[in-house]
Amino acid sequence: MSDAEPGGAFREARIDLDAIRHNVRALAELVAPAGVMAVVKADAYGHGAVAVARAALDAGALRLGVADIDEALALRGAGIDARVLAWLHDPGASFRVPIERGVELGISSTGQLHAVADATASAGRVADVHLKLDTGLSRNGIPRAEWPHAVAEAARLEREGLVRVRGVFSHLANTSPEEDAAQLEAFLRGVELAEAAGLRPDVRHLASSAAAVRFPEARLDLVRIGIGMYGIPPFGDGTTAAELGLRPAMTLQGRVAAVRRVAAGDGVSYGHTWRADRATTLALVPLGYADGVPRQASGRAEVFLRGRRRPVVGRIAMDQFLVDVGDDEVAVGDPVVLFGDPASGAPSADEWGEAAETIGYEIVTRVGPRVPRRHTGER
Ligand SMILES: *Cc1c(COP(=O)(O)O)cnc(C)c1O
Repeated sequence: MSDAEPGGAFREARIDLDAIRHNVRALAELVAPAGVMAVVKADAYGHGAVAVARAALDAGALRLGVADIDEALALRGAGIDARVLAWLHDPGASFRVPIERGVELGISSTGQLHAVADATASAGRVADVHLKLDTGLSRNGIPRAEWPHAVAEAARLEREGLVRVRGVFSHLANTSPEEDAAQLEAFLRGVELAEAAGLRPDVRHLASSAAAVRFPEARLDLVRIGIGMYGIPPFGDGTTAAELGLRPAMTLQGRVAAVRRVAAGDGVSYGHTWRADRATTLALVPLGYADGVPRQASGRAEVFLRGRRRPVVGRIAMDQFLVDVGDDEVAVGDPVVLFGDPASGAPSADEWGEAAETIGYEIVTRVGPRVPRRHTGER
């Protein structure tokens, strides 16, 4: 069975919203009684933030999460009024508009806390914030030495009616079970500190997809699910989506744009990094690195075409690459799937990640703007 639809588009990323709903339900069931925040940053990892956010909420996600305030405001602009948290801020960010629009703000420094409190008066609405504690990732988040001061300031600003601390959160490095457990310990100490200062956060959240699945103690009140919702395993250890009960939501496909027969010894694509060792047929696929197909996967990845996997041969170019179909029949216009649900025979995004020495996250997120997204299963 081919996952590609006959007569499909020249280039297309098909997003199955039924798969998104299935994955959210499966993960929500797994982590219950903890709730699910659906992470739709970076245009829902390339899947289309508004459509994915609606599908995730429909399937039981309680909240949405994004990196940037602008991403949260785009959801509001589309009429989505669910709780949404944004956690990575421009140093010059103005917090008035997000507070007005009821966007919850992650706080990574005492300075940010004060800037948010200062914006409250002009917004005419109390700012809902989540304190982000750095427990060992060493990225953003309030550094441990500043926790006592930050929670004391948050409690003072809460008493003054300027902010409400809705949550306390952190992010794991996913380094090893022992190191993740140490981060959980540190996080729980930070929560105790916040409570001792008089704060009463509704939710404590630490786990993203990987810990939500494999580290039950880290589920706490809420898990932040990104990659798992898209049906891609978070581990990078060969675990498949099917083993986790998840379905990949994105299928990247195109149509064969040209077919050519080459002779033994003919070189193929830039630099002739591959030469035919026999007479063979090549099919031209009209996607390239401008579309997020990694050049690094040249000569390593496979596609699904005419019921079989076929190797990518020669360099992947900006707009196109070639696959070797041997002596099999192939025609211009045939659908070709780069990745999708392996249950259909297609490679997974993870396999492309491996071919390009990266991760499935990067493969789906980098699908370029020239590739139209088509959502199926819309309600
Ligand atoms: C991106 C992100 C997530 C989601 O991670 P996944 O591994 O995709 O589930 C969760 N929390 C934070 C802070 C993030 O930046």
